[in-house]
Amino acid sequence: MPELRIAVVGGGIGGLATAAFLKRAGLACTVYEQAAELGEVGAGLVAGPNLVRLLRRLGVLDELLARAVAVDVGWEFRRWADGSVLSAENLAEACERLYGERTYTVHRADLLSVVQATVPADALRLGAKCVGVEIGADGAVLSFADGAATTADVVIGADGVHSTIRNALLGPSSATFSGLCAFRALVPAAAAPAFALRKAHTLWLGPGHHLVHYPISAGKLINIVAFAPAGADVVESWSATATHAEFAAEFDGWDPRLRELIAAAGAPGRWALLDRAPLAQWSHGPATLLGGAAHPMFPFFAQGAAQAVEDAAALALCLAADATEPARALRRYESARRDRTARLQTVSHERAHLNHLPDGPAQQVRDASLSGQDPLAANAWIYGHDAELVPPLWT
Ligand SMILES: Cc1cc2nc3c(=O)[nH]c(=O)nc-3n(C[C@H](O)[C@H](O)[C@H](O)COP(=O)(O)OP(=O)(O)OC[C@H]3O[C@@H](n4cnc5c(N)ncnc54)[C@H](O)[C@@H]3O)c2cc1C
Repeated sequence: MPELRIAVVGGGIGGLATAAFLKRAGLACTVYEQAAELGEVGAGLVAGPNLVRLLRRLGVLDELLARAVAVDVGWEFRRWADGSVLSAENLAEACERLYGERTYTVHRADLLSVVQATVPADALRLGAKCVGVEIGADGAVLSFADGAATTADVVIGADGVHSTIRNALLGPSSATFSGLCAFRALVPAAAAPAFALRKAHTLWLGPGHHLVHYPISAGKLINIVAFAPAGADVVESWSATATHAEFAAEFDGWDPRLRELIAAAGAPGRWALLDRAPLAQWSHGPATLLGGAAHPMFPFFAQGAAQAVEDAAALALCLAADATEPARALRRYESARRDRTARLQTVSHERAHLNHLPDGPAQQVRDASLSGQDPLAANAWIYGHDAELVPPLWT
């Protein structure tokens, strides 16, 4: 049987993980990435057990852990005004006991580089901006901004929230602006206040805003991501910037320790958070979507990258098991992934409101329920999931 020609559009974490899991399953692919070089801008990521177990199977975990931080305290919610702890979870012991893996915080660039290292260099085409795809009887024809074209038996759109492949398969649509923006900054550990050096994933909740911080890069850096109302001029981009004064002003009046941390930060990145409703269907014949292209989600459950990697693992498994019927393999992949990712989109969306309640009765109810809550157990459906246990397709 001739080898399947698999084209992956997008070389973010979803596209690279797809190439990595396909290779592990014995399938080759070509990744087309619009950027001239691969890279991630400075920002951290919480890698929960559901992501960690897949990275272990890919054989990249040990290398990543040399540059990660094993989180001892997770989902540590604090009140904006005085830092009082509303809820905290001992991740070191409970995570491993419940889910067989710990939670780590990592630099996005480190995650990307260990996954990329498993992908053959000749599988990557850089500077290849896909501008369209047409599905025909003999496969799919991808066209590129430089006028080139290529034919593939399978097309995987891993091209993020503004996906060209999604528009080609499902008709043009735009993501909607959430009204929120995210500031991102890194603080060298030597300049950070002591409380931010703890191996803790800490979230400060306040009116209209919340701020998350944790150490990354073997503890050398503190990652900050902070959410605030966005003005009309905020753009969605990994590399858009804001001034330090704009960032600090959003957290004026918050706990002095937090303001000390912000003061130590360099110039932040800032971008708009975009939203899309879950899709009822995202595959079309031999073409499908993956990661942010299929199910962009607010980052409030720290699951966007994890879901892209889960997609990649499930997709590789389905294609390897059913290589002679790729369209059926893609249907099986989508049916395994759709409800789970839609649920994460929905709960992540709802948390925007909850995290940003103004002080008052609703906030007090939220804080009281946080203190009685066990986020690790409540999130068992997220962390306990094994994306490689893909059910058969019942047609
Ligand atoms: C503030 C914030 C915090 C987050 N924190 C976490 C976290 O803690 N844990 C977690 O798991 N997730 C987190 N996420 C989510 C996660 O970062 C995204 O869900 C993830 O990046 C999606 O990966 P992707 O590969 O699908 O898309 P992307 O990372 O967007 O990559 C898409 C790639 O496709 C390329 N591309 C686009 N169009 C084309 C084209 N036409 N032709 C060729 N190439 C193209 C792009 O250049 C890019 O390289 C966070 C997100 C945000 C915004």
